[in-house]
Amino acid sequence: MTIQWFPGHMAKARRQVTEKLSVIDVVIELADARVPAASRNPMIDEIISNKPRLLLLNKADLADPRTTQAWLAHYEKQGVMAIAIDAQSGQGLKAIITSCQLLTKEKFDKMRAKGIKPRAIRALIVGIPNVGKSTLINKLARKNIAKTGDRPGVTQAQQWIKVGKEIELLDTPGILWPKFEDQLVGLRLATTGAIKDSIINLQEVMVYAIKYLREYYPNVLKERYDMSEDILFSEDVVPIFDHIGRKRGLLMSGGFIDYDKTSDLFLRELRAGKLGRLSFENPAMHREDDKILEES
Ligand code: GDP
Repeated sequence: MTIQWFPGHMAKARRQVTEKLSVIDVVIELADARVPAASRNPMIDEIISNKPRLLLLNKADLADPRTTQAWLAHYEKQGVMAIAIDAQSGQGLKAIITSCQLLTKEKFDKMRAKGIKPRAIRALIVGIPNVGKSTLINKLARKNIAKTGDRPGVTQAQQWIKVGKEIELLDTPGILWPKFEDQLVGLRLATTGAIKDSIINLQEVMVYAIKYLREYYPNVLKERYDMSEDILFSEDVVPIFDHIGRKRGLLMSGGFIDYDKTSDLFLRELRAGKLGRLSFENPAMHREDDKILEES
């Protein structure tokens, strides 16, 4: 699904999340472990205000494990509770429940002290498109989808999904927009596949990805495509395109390399993890990234 984010849509998306906040105890925010900053909504803190929040770095199976650790340490320093998960395989899902319990402990202790009957923790999943919200909801729900009816304050018909005895999840996640007016954020999201290919220039994305990889993971390109250092570090990226295209037999008539097909195939391999577990952002790199962008 491609979502065109116009100001009206943003306001609506924001309103839909804000409306639900009154009936939930904790927000579960999904980000992409490969690009944790680029894949978050720029106004998320303001939108969820003072609700307890758990940040999930999803698709950790595709991200560089060392970089993911660096991000987790970074968030810990900031006082944001964060865990790395893989919603597709279910890795890390148990920790979601225990983290939600921790985050809501004070509130539930207070409720108990007032003699209010204990109930399940109510949670809402939010995140930008393609970050894995539906995958996570389905995985958490397993066979436990239970219709418990509407709750006051939620305007649309909402269904709550039981996750064990401990948690109830709203079945429709909050969809938020990324910070796409920033060119670098757009390139990072496109590299990882969060932005539909029909609305981006694949060759441009591949140029960015190649420049990034040869800076941070040079061996990946060398090994996957059997590339010499001369080609890898040539001043221009064209020899790299030519090498990969030729290697994969992506030729047009006259023997020219088909750059569109080359970009498409290269990015598909990259996003599927065929070049290994890679992260495209780390907490310490922002200044260096600006340098790569200036050169492209
Ligand atoms: P949503 O738009 O946020 O609901 O995202 P989806 O749940 O539809 O997921 C988008 C794509 O990411 C789908 O192709 C999923 O199979 C894939 N995906 C979701 N979670 C993971 C994960 O943890 N690892 C990997 N490798 N892929 C995932």
